[in-house]
Amino acid sequence: MYTSAGIRYKTQPESPESPESFPMRPESPTGLYWSMHGEVACAAHAPTADDPRWAKEDWAPIAVKDGQIEEMRYQYQCQHCAPDGRAVLRFPK
Ligand SMILES: [Zn+2]
Repeated sequence: MYTSAGIRYKTQPESPESPESFPMRPESPTGLYWSMHGEVACAAHAPTADDPRWAKEDWAPIAVKDGQIEEMRYQYQCQHCAPDGRAVLRFPK
């Protein structure tokens, strides 16, 4: 008799993580997404649409990457990629 111990099955995991496939996630014109918590992430770091976080945290594409509030210019960036970990860059005029 054989037991299954030590036998490796070469099966793929249920959710293949391919950078090419982001099922159902709307395309972002800026390549950035944000959540209702103010988290900003790029396509690689934002949850995919089939991730429970996508709906739970209300993620959406960021339509415009930068802008200006009065005298202050700002620009969104992926806080996971950013060396300083900030979601918003500010440029004092
Ligand atoms: Zn990123």
